[in-house]
Formats: sequence, structure tokens, C-alpha cells
Amino acid sequence: MSKQVITVLQLYPKDMNIYGDYGNLLVIQRRLEWYGYEPKVIHYNVGDTFPSDVDIIIGGGGQDSGQEVIHQDLINIGPKLKALAEKEVPMLLVCGLYQLFGNFFKTLDGKTLTGIGVLDVETHGTHERLIGNIVTNNETFGDIIGYENHSGQTYLGKNAEPFATVVKGAGNNAKDGHEGARYKNVIGTYLHGSILPKNPLLADFLIHTAVTKKYGDFSTDIVDDLLADLARKVAEDRPR
Ligand code: GLN
Repeated sequence: MSKQVITVLQLYPKDMNIYGDYGNLLVIQRRLEWYGYEPKVIHYNVGDTFPSDVDIIIGGGGQDSGQEVIHQDLINIGPKLKALAEKEVPMLLVCGLYQLFGNFFKTLDGKTLTGIGVLDVETHGTHERLIGNIVTNNETFGDIIGYENHSGQTYLGKNAEPFATVVKGAGNNAKDGHEGARYKNVIGTYLHGSILPKNPLLADFLIHTAVTKKYGDFSTDIVDDLLADLARKVAEDRPR
């Protein structure tokens, strides 16, 4: 019997992919295989044709310059991404793409990069770089462990809920004590590292949501996360 296919779209791997973000794709691919599904991966870069059938979307961070490179293309495909967000397609956007899934990113040199407004957040470039290992906590996923490095500081509007509470580190900005944002099944976060290898529950949320949406139920084999648990422990105990 042929396996059930899950299509994973990675946004802008050429320009938006730093501090290990590519690892998020590897984790989703491998866990889908472990669970008995067939991952079909699409790398979407500037100018590509946006596919009609997508089950999971992920995207990474980049420097301000990378964000400028992909900005117009992202605006072009924004309505498609918004429609998929409304249809509850699971998405994980890290740092630079988290910022551009918001309403705008105002850079330090005064440029305003309009976002696609999936998340009701705004980001302001600052002289302060928020950098280091970070631990946050989310009611469903428990402790979330990663690494942040950003000078843009993000503020949530009234239609955005924070993704997590900061335990150690900075998060969205230097003062609010929360990290990331969530709308339906779209999660924006500052956590690199990469985030998914050390936080398998989050990877499984994306997978589980996509599979049940497409096929109605989720048949799992038990996955042994001993190595991920050890990696979590090491990363969690690192100094900031
Ligand atoms: N350029 C953005 C900032 O520094 C995003 C950085 C990143 O993606 N790590 O705020």
C-alpha cells in the first residue's frame, strides 16, 4: 500500500535560513517517516511558483538584508499564505519570517517592511541585540528551548496571543516577558537553534495537525525521543 503523503513547504531557504533553521525541515521529514508517512518537500524561493497543495509551512530567520531580498515576493504570495492560515494549516515561522508575518518591521535605518499581517504584531529595529540561549514555557508544549539573536523587538497587538512565557532570556522584546505569537495554527517565534530537534512536541504538533486535517486521523508508531531529551537537558542548562 502506498504511503500517505504530507507536503512540507519551506519558505525561502536560500535567503532565510540561519542559526540552524534548516534543521526544522530535517526533523519534520524524519518524524513523518518514523510515523509512517511520506514527506514531500518543496523549497520555495523568490520567484518560484507557489504550490496549490501544502500541508505544513515552515520558514526561518535571516539578516535584515535577507528580509529585504524576499520582501516583495512575500507580499505577492501573502494572500495565499493568509488563506492557508485561515484554513488552519500549521505553520512555524522563525525570527525574520516571524517578523514579516506580522504587520510591519521598521528597520533601524528607517525602512518600513510591510508584513503580510497573519500575526497581529509589529517589530521595531533597535540598537540592543537580544542574544543568547533562551528557555520559554507554553501550557501545551512545556518548556521550549532554543537560541535567540535579534535586534528587532516585537510588540503584540490585541488580536495576537503570545506563544510562550519567557523563563530565561528575552523573547519578543526586552520588557514584556513573552515570546512569539500564535494565530490559529500559525506559530511565530524567535527561537533558532534549531528549535524542532530540541522540542519534539512542537514538531509533533505541526505533524499531527497536518495529518488529521488531511487524512482524518493520525496513526503513530511510538518514537524514541531519548536523544532529543538529552539534548534538551544539555541546552536547558547552558548559561545565557
Ligand atoms: N534581522 C532581524 C533582527 O535582527 C531578524 C534576525 C533573525 O532572523 N535572527 O531582528
